[in-house]
Amino acid sequence: MAIFHAPKESVKALIAVQELDLALDKLAAELAAVPARKAAEEAAFEAKKGALAAARAELTRLQVEKKSKELLAAEKEEAIRKHQRELNQIKSNEAYKALENEIAFAAREKDEAETAVLELMEGIDRAAKAEKAEQAAVDALASSLKDRLAAIDAEGAGIASRAEGLRARKEALLGGMPPDLLERYGFLRARLKGLAVAEVSGQPGGNISCGGCHMRLRPQEEVDLLKPEGFAVCGECQRLMYRRATIFGAAEAQAPGA
Ligand SMILES: [Zn+2]
Repeated sequence: MAIFHAPKESVKALIAVQELDLALDKLAAELAAVPARKAAEEAAFEAKKGALAAARAELTRLQVEKKSKELLAAEKEEAIRKHQRELNQIKSNEAYKALENEIAFAAREKDEAETAVLELMEGIDRAAKAEKAEQAAVDALASSLKDRLAAIDAEGAGIASRAEGLRARKEALLGGMPPDLLERYGFLRARLKGLAVAEVSGQPGGNISCGGCHMRLRPQEEVDLLKPEGFAVCGECQRLMYRRATIFGAAEAQAPGA
């Protein structure tokens, strides 16, 4: 079958139906993406809460470590005092020296612990600021999350209502169309996943090609294309082909979509 016969009005209507179907496909994809977009917003919020928890854990860890270094410094301080009291009761020179060494060793350990405490205090300062910043970020996100989710829902509702409008226009077009043409269109659309009706490109005389598969038309297909009583059928992909000038006239051909 080189030509699919149909009244010119049906050819025009089917071209319009396909435009609506392609627009509906796009809207359906946008609508299908709504749950994932909402989930992404929620996941971003959960990630921010995770960052806050991590900042909080780091602050706690530094505070615990500081406490432990403070205890260590106090212990060493106590040990030094105890050893200094003991020094008075020592008789032997050797034992005196040994105890002095022990005192010096404890003093070093105490110094190290005190230095660590000072460093930890700086770390705690930074960690507290980081925690505060994370908390502020979580608070900001929490207060806007609901709005953003509602905005996505509203967008989804808008898409659904636009789709409903397009479907109504499509139904109106389908009314007077030949059933065999609709069946053919449905079959091609399902098989080709998209374009079933293709406008050709190029000029008559040997360089016209199918707008779907882009194969150069055979001479007989070019002849069929110039008949206004139906669609030429692409020998390669079976799409229903039309030439804008043949179906809509030269004036409209200058302004596609007008
Ligand atoms: Zn083709």
